This record gives sequence, structure tokens and C-alpha cells, in this order.
Amino acid sequence: MRIRRLSALFWATCIIAFIFILYVVTDLSLKLPSIKPAMVDLEDNKWSSFESKLRNIENELNQHHAVVGEIKSAMDQIVEQSQEFHPPQIRPKPAPKQIKIREFKVVGDEPPRMHRKINMSYCPIFQTSSKTDVQMLSMYDRIMFDDVDGGVWKQGWNIEYKDNQWSSKNKLKVFIVPHSHNDPGWIKTFENYYKAQTKAIFTNMVEKLKENVGRKFIWAETSYLSLWWTSDATDKEKTDFQNLLKSGQIEIVTGGWVMNDEANSHWVSNAQQLTTGHQWLLDNLGYIPKNGWAIDPFGYSSSQPYLLKLTGLENSVIQRVHYRVKKELALNRQLEFKWRQMWDGSGKTDMFTHMMPFYSYDVPHTCGPDPKICCQFDFKRLPGNGVTCPWGSPPRKIVQKNVDERSFMILDQWRKKAQLYRSNVVLVPLGDDFRYDRANEWDNQYQNYEMIIDYINSNEAWNAEVQFGTLQDYFKAVHEEIKLADFPVLTGDFFTYADRNQHYWSGYYTSRPFYKRMDRALLAYVRAAEVITAQASSSRSVSHITSLQLRDRVEHARRALALFQHHDGVAGTARDDVHEDYARKMLTAIKYSQSAIQQAAYYLLKQPAIQDQTQEDVYFDVDDIWRKHDEIPSRITIALDPMSPSRRLLFYNALAFKRHEVVTVIVSTPHVEVFDPDGSPIMAQISPVVAGEKRLGFAANKFQLSFPVVVDALAITVYSVSLRDNMAINKYTSYSRVRIYNADYWSVELPKMFAVEQPAARLADDVTMQAGNSSRVVATMNGLLKAVVTPDGHTMPVHMDFVQYDTQKAQDNNSGAYLFIPDGPATPFKSDPFPEIVITEGPFKATLYSGLVGPKAAEVLLAISVYNNPSLPHAELEISNTLLIDPQVDDLELAMRFSTPIKNGDIFYTDLNGMQMIKRRYFEKLPLQANFYPLPAAAFLQDGGARLTLLTSTPLGAAALRSGQLEVMQDRRLSRDDNRGLNQGVLDNVRTRHTFRLLLERVPQVCASKSPEQTSEYLTLGAHVSQQMLLQPLITMHYSANENSPRSSYSRSLVSAPDVVLAAFHSHIATKNKDGATHHGMGMTFQRVHLDTCYGNKAVEKWYPLSEGQIPLTDMVDVQPDQIFDSSLTFVHVRNPVPEAFIALCPMEIRSVFINQTLKRA
Ligand SMILES: [Zn+2]
Repeated sequence: MRIRRLSALFWATCIIAFIFILYVVTDLSLKLPSIKPAMVDLEDNKWSSFESKLRNIENELNQHHAVVGEIKSAMDQIVEQSQEFHPPQIRPKPAPKQIKIREFKVVGDEPPRMHRKINMSYCPIFQTSSKTDVQMLSMYDRIMFDDVDGGVWKQGWNIEYKDNQWSSKNKLKVFIVPHSHNDPGWIKTFENYYKAQTKAIFTNMVEKLKENVGRKFIWAETSYLSLWWTSDATDKEKTDFQNLLKSGQIEIVTGGWVMNDEANSHWVSNAQQLTTGHQWLLDNLGYIPKNGWAIDPFGYSSSQPYLLKLTGLENSVIQRVHYRVKKELALNRQLEFKWRQMWDGSGKTDMFTHMMPFYSYDVPHTCGPDPKICCQFDFKRLPGNGVTCPWGSPPRKIVQKNVDERSFMILDQWRKKAQLYRSNVVLVPLGDDFRYDRANEWDNQYQNYEMIIDYINSNEAWNAEVQFGTLQDYFKAVHEEIKLADFPVLTGDFFTYADRNQHYWSGYYTSRPFYKRMDRALLAYVRAAEVITAQASSSRSVSHITSLQLRDRVEHARRALALFQHHDGVAGTARDDVHEDYARKMLTAIKYSQSAIQQAAYYLLKQPAIQDQTQEDVYFDVDDIWRKHDEIPSRITIALDPMSPSRRLLFYNALAFKRHEVVTVIVSTPHVEVFDPDGSPIMAQISPVVAGEKRLGFAANKFQLSFPVVVDALAITVYSVSLRDNMAINKYTSYSRVRIYNADYWSVELPKMFAVEQPAARLADDVTMQAGNSSRVVATMNGLLKAVVTPDGHTMPVHMDFVQYDTQKAQDNNSGAYLFIPDGPATPFKSDPFPEIVITEGPFKATLYSGLVGPKAAEVLLAISVYNNPSLPHAELEISNTLLIDPQVDDLELAMRFSTPIKNGDIFYTDLNGMQMIKRRYFEKLPLQANFYPLPAAAFLQDGGARLTLLTSTPLGAAALRSGQLEVMQDRRLSRDDNRGLNQGVLDNVRTRHTFRLLLERVPQVCASKSPEQTSEYLTLGAHVSQQMLLQPLITMHYSANENSPRSSYSRSLVSAPDVVLAAFHSHIATKNKDGATHHGMGMTFQRVHLDTCYGNKAVEKWYPLSEGQIPLTDMVDVQPDQIFDSSLTFVHVRNPVPEAFIALCPMEIRSVFINQTLKRA
């Protein structure tokens, strides 16, 4: 470990040093006399000439695609016909194994691939056999959300039971489940909690559980277990722990690295944190968890049970659900249910779920309905221990004299709790946050309960059987008593959570948005790093040692990502210094990932000619510089001068499909030209860099260089940028037209190739802009979006506004890190009525910048861009908000709002963890804050004619408060604490940048009308592709072109599957087969998305042809076809071999495979 850490430190230092040197050089170069502007005459007809060129190219490409499409459909027909008469065709055997490197090819020239005709009728999404008993959206529609005082169970009712309900043959079975909830960071950092409490919990655990074989304990957070295991546990403690685990006295529940947030987390990150935890448990303890435990996340997503199911878990416990929903489920004895995916018509995805009925997971709210009674059985609160019962009656030590009275008192609570469930088995959690850290707490809890247990069990008249238990004990007893078929089926999710009154937890969807954005950036890096390093390892481009070194850096980064999935991490609900700690860890993780990516890229490009793998660390510079943990990253300025006239640009595509994009890099001079991987010049656009915080301005000696690139799936492609003779005419590079409004006082010093307009009058009318054949953007005189004119001439009004909320300020009724309690509807964000506006416009990219400054409110640098990208022909805008709430403001929440004529009524859709889209409804009967939902990745509004989709780079809160309207929170600054334990407001705002993509898609023909019961919907192919590109940007790397240049591309995958997400690719994982033997190898996870075919431009499919969920794995990566096995999501269970390594996925299916690398050696 020490060597690893040292080498890690070395890596990080090297990267930082290199970046620093680069920047010094870059900065110096900016001070050098600039090269004289070229004497290029910009004729008026330049634009039309570019346009016509572009049109020609497009036409050619389209023709090309049409031909390819025809061939493909002809081949499909042949395959189809041949199968009518023959048994299913076996795919031709793959060519003999060799390292295949395809050189770069232009759009659409690959051979058409044959699809197998696979019977998809068995897919859950196409089945209709199942019926739902509880649909959450229907329940929301039905119940009135009254808050009637229920007596001792305030949010419920007075529970009664009959004494004769139980008999000697039908006893009440009670499982007391001791637990300790350990947040990996909240009030203290992860490490500080460990030092102060968690370490002692483990030490006492092994000691105190040994005292009696009947004692049990459950543990959830693998991050803490691993820290104890590797830093403090003695050999004896390790042996004791292992024995307790084997005997079932300890159960590890869920076993994720953390207990993840379910609102803001992306499912791929969540799979990462589950894999990190499960792999650690298997590697170090040979242990595989069976039951889930998520008592503290603030609301629950239905993506979670699906992931847990895929890991092999059988049952799960949840707790923080809206009190009125709990009551409704309890009234119908539906607190235990089969949680099913909304799109599953077969029941294949069911996860058995137990929902706790009462207010909290602490002892006062887990033994039964009366907290005053239950608190008296929390023996940590015995007088003298520093914790008391707020209901006035402290616990009493159990002695012979009171055991009868005390035992009956708690039995009465257990019996009442049993009335809410279908079985005679009661789950009684016994624990709280960071409990069991002191030896005397173990003694007090266990010894007093042991007396109660013995007394009740020996009192036959009570017909009860009480014991300490684990979740496994509890669920086993439930399933023995009641058939799974007799439990209800539930679909939907549990957002937005309210714990009491109108306290809705919708604030944390947005709290600390800078770090939420950083989470997604890190996810993209971890994914890219694991995929490219796995490619390098599997293609044998690196030695075993190098492969392990790369693995270590990726694993380090993955653990930082996993840690941040904690329900106070990405949720934004930890204290300021704890967030800084998370962010520093994420910053290091980004640097480690970048280091691994650039090295792996180098090895892939050099292969197969690598002789000695050099010790040198940095081959390429990743063009995304994260300097500080709380600073928006910056771009490298490519400094070109006669001494260093050329630079190579590497683009790595970590997605499993070929992408077509317009990229932008920053160059130090406008006199450049761009060459494609074959060395041919390509068309490019130069624009000035518009920067600034409060005021806009042009950056000196920096220019945006934009040009279209094509990168194959999982491939690297190299373009180059060269300084050109500024005296010669360059027909390939064009210069943006620049318009500046409301800033006639600027003295603009742009090179004169830019056609600059700078009217003296204030802007008094709408402005428009367009890039080549892109949609036309219409903006108001205030610099805000007003309408979009689609390429086919259809005008869609989309009015953009910024609005702000204040908080209620009554005692115990204000917004904080968790809660959103506005004092009324939003008011307009009032910025300067004549903001500075700059528009840059060229053949590939057009951007409108607007500096919206609202004193005593916020400042927003708004940048709306459109791209000329024929592969995404629908109307699509990129919106980037760089914002800071004024530090002088006490309480303000800033939101961006779009108003459109779409007649969606009260229906809108938001995503769950980037995995699926769920139907939402605006409910008038609920307060404003209850109508906000998590927006982890996407939302849309639709009617019979159009759909407006918003994709986000940052998880944020969103609402649709009126028909046609969609609103997204941007940031929140709050001076008060909201009484949920944090003890501080949210005042650590930093400048933050969110990037959105706004899509307008129309219905080409009339679509089949949808059943109102359908609660899930799907993105179109265009929106899905755009979303993938937003979340997983091309990784841009730079290097100086020299004689030792590696090859100009690496492209191994023959598969391009836009409808399949390669969610994970681990190069070193462990698994257990049916016989219990452990094997090592690689692991991959795929998700096939289901796509909407009603909306959108069908031409997208020509550029992004669907795989239909078919992945011949040997066509994608270097694997042995006979070594592929189906596996669980976290790879700990290995299942059947995958014949011919041919993976077929149902729509919405997530499937993992294990690539065995040890069986052969054995
Ligand atoms: Zn917690």
C-alpha cells in the first residue's frame, strides 16, 4: 500500500508539474508579439459558399447512408427469409485471433453487419401478464395528503389487536436487529468519524458478540469495514470477525461502499459503488451479501431495487418514505411488497421490499407505534449515559422485579407493529447513528434485552418467540410463513419525501450543485479510464505490471466516486468542510483517471510495436484542467508558433458507438488549419473566446477552434492543428461573424478577419443566430431564448426566464440543505435590462453570450450554442449557465424556467438515475415544494405534436408547475439550518457551471395513443445519443507532433451500438462460481435502452444505426469467445457461459458478463 501511495503521489506531482510548466509556457507565449493577421478578404459570398460546400458534403453523406441503409435492409431480408426455413443461423466463426487495428474511415463506410433474428417476445417489456396492486402515481392521485393526528403514532392511527391472535402453534416471532448507521462523511469527514467512533464500534463488535451466540449485528458500509480491516484490525480480530460472519451472527447488508443517495446519483455510479463494496467483500472475506438495507436515503428510486436484484440480493429494507404514503400502505398491509420495474410485464425484476412504518429508524420509532414507550427500551439512554428520552420517561434497567411489567410493555408494542404486516414476524431494528461505539452500550443493550427475551420466551401464555436476528433471519421467517405470491406488487418510486408537516425534502436535489457537477465529471473520467485501461490490458498492449499500475489508479478514482455516492455526499447535505474533503478526493481522482487514460491511449496507439514500457508518466495532456477542488475547470490553450507549429489532438470515445460531433479547442492564434487523421485539411471555424464573470469580454490571444470530428466506438482518432502561413488564402478555415450589443463602450481589439458589428444603440429587438444549417435561435433583447426555428422551418416559441425563491422564515419552517420551503411562488430574477450580449456565428457553431447580472441576487453568464451537426438533425441547443448567487444575499434559490405552447397539462417526465423516465404529475393539492422532483439527467414535456427534452450535466431539482412549463433549480443559498441535524445553512456557494441540452422534437406522423396507465416513457434515439455525449464527453488530449509520433488511430471495435450503454468495464475483478471457487478476470456491464419512436427526426438512425441489443463481444474487445460467462451486476456470482460470446439484450435490460482469465491457467 505504501508503495502504491508513493507512486500515486509521484504521478500526481508529475501531472501537476507538467500542467504547470505547460501553463507557464502558454502564458509566456501569449505575451510574445502576435503573428500578423492574415490579409484574407472576407467576401460577402463567403458564407453562402461555405453553406453550399456543407450542403454538398451532407448530400454526399446522406447518399452514402442511403446506399448503406439499402444494403443493410436487403441483408436483413435475406437473413429473415433464410430463417423461415432453416434453424437459427449460427454466426460465421470469427476470424482467427489477432490484434485488429482499423485505420480511420469516413462516415458510413463499414460493411453492413448482419443481425441475428432473436425472439424478443420473452422480454419483460413486451409482456403483459403481470398486474400491479399499488401504483404510486395513482396513489398520489387518490389520497388527499391529510395530516390527521393519530395519537401516540402521530402520523398513523391507534393500532388495536386481539389477545387471541396468537397461539402456541402460531406464535409472534420477533427479531431484534442491532445496527449502527455510519455515514461515510456528514458532520465529520469519513476519516474523522472512523477515528472518533467507527473503529471502536468494530473493536467492540468482535468482543461483545462473542459473549453470547444468540447475539447478532448487521453492518452496511463496506468503506468503513475496509478501512478498519486494512489499518487497525488485528489478526485475532480479523479471525473473530470472519467467524462471526460465518456463523451468521454478523450479516453484511447491501454491502455497497456506501448507502447511496437515490435521487441525485447516476445508476452507473451506483453500480460502481456496489461493485467496489462487493468486490472488496469477496476478495477479503469471501462474502456475498444477500439482503439490502437503506434506512437513511431521503426518498427511494425504483432504479435501486432493479440494481440490487441484478447483484443477486433477495430482499431489501427502506425507511424514509412520505408519512402519508406509509400510512396508506400500512392501512392495506402493503408495507411489504414486490417492487417491480414500471416497464416489466413479467415480474422478472421484482425485489421483495420491507418498508419501515414509523417516523425514523431510531429506537423510539422502531419497536412499535408509541415512541414514548419504545424510547424506554433504548438502553443506551439509561440515566447517566448522556442521552435521554425526550418523551420524559427514561429507560429502566431490567431486573427481576420489573421484568414482567417491562416485558409486557414492549411485547404490546411489537404486537401492534405486527398488525401492519401480513406475517406474524416482526422486524425490530435496534440502533441509530454511530451507535455501539462504547463497550457499556453493548452491555446495556444486549444484557437488558437478553433478560426480556428469556422472560417472554419462557412465558407460554404470551405465545411469542423473541430473539436477536439479522435481516437474513427475519426474511427467512417471513418467507416461510407467507408465499411470495401473496404479497402485493408495487410500481413507481418514493419521491418526494416528507417526514412531517409540509417538510418536503426537495432542497437536496440542488444543494451544493458545484459538487454535483463534479460527481458527473468524475463519473465520465472513471468510466473512460476503466474502459481504455481494460482495452489496453485485454489487447496486451501493456505488461502485466503496467496493467496493475493502471488498475490501481482507476481503482483509487473509483473509490472516490463510490464514497461520494453516500446519501450526504452527492446529496449536498454534509457540512462545508466535509464537502471540501469529498471534493479534494474527487479532484485527485480526476487527475488519477486522466493519468491512466493518457497512458493507456499511448500504449494503444503504439501497439503492437512496444518494446519497453517506459517509466515516463505523461505522454499526452488531457484538455480539461481541474486546478482546484472548487474551481470550474479550464481548457489548455494550444500555443502555436514557428518553433512549435503543429499540435496533434487525440480524441478518445469511451462510448460504444461511433460519434459525430463538432468539437472546440482553444488556440493561441487565429492562423491555423486542421487536418484529419489522413492528413487532409478539413473545414474549421475560428471564433473569439468570450469570457468574464460580472462583465463579458474577449480573451486576449485565445481563440475557439471548432471543427467536426468522427470517432469510432471505443476508439482513438488523431487530428492535427497547424499554424498556417497568414499571408496565404485559406479556404478551409473560416472566421466567425461577431455581433456585440449593449456594449458600445468596449474597444474591441479582435484580429480583423472577424467581421465585427457593434451598434451604438441599445438592443431594442429580437436577435437571431444560426450555425450553417442548424436550427435558428431567436433571443429577446434581454439575451434570453425566445424561440427556435427548426431546420425545416417550423417555429417553436420557447421562452426562457430566470426566477428566484425566498424561504419561509418561521421557526422550524425554513429551507436548508435538505428542505425546500419557499415563501410563495417564484419572482422574476431582475437583471440589468440591457445586458452585454455577444453573438459569434460561423458554419459549425453559433453562440449567444449574455451577462445577466442581478445585484443582490445572482450573476449568470448565459451561453446558448447551436451546432451544425447533421447527425443530430432535430432542433438542439446547448445552454451553459455559469453562475454565482450574490454572497450578500441571505436566502435565494435561483431557477431557470422554459415556457412553451406544449399542451402537456399536468403531466411531465423526469428520469430516475439516468436509467429510465418516470411519469410525474403536478398536484395542486400538494405544496409547491412537493411538486419538485429529482432531475438526475433528463426531463421532458410532450403533447400530440411535439416534445421538449432537457438534458442536464448536473443533477438538480426540477418541476413543471404549469402546462408547457419546465423549471430547473440552478443553485441555492440559505442562511438557516432546517433542523435535520446539520446545524448550518448552505452558504458555501462557489461559481458553478451547468450545461444543458434542449431538444425540440416533433411528431412526423400521428402516433398511437398511449394508455393513461403507462407510467414510464423513453427518450428518442436523438435525445439518448445527445445525453450520452453530454455525460461522456470525448476525451481530448494534446501532444506535440514529432518524429516519434504514434499511429493516427486506434479502432478495434467493429460494433457500433447507440442503443447500448457500456456501463462498466473492470479489468481486474473476482468472482465465485457455483462450487464456491474464486476466479479472476474482467467484467463488463451493458444496458440496452428502449427508445421512443413517436417523436424526433428519423434521419438520426441513419447516422446511429441501432444494434437491436446484439453485441458480438469478440467484435468489440479482445476476449476469448469460450471464456465469457453471465454474471451478477457486481460480478461476484458467475453463471452460465455465453455461447460464442454473443450477447443479446432485451430493451431496458442490464446485463453483466465475466471474462474468465484464470480458468485456463488452472
Ligand atoms: Zn445517514
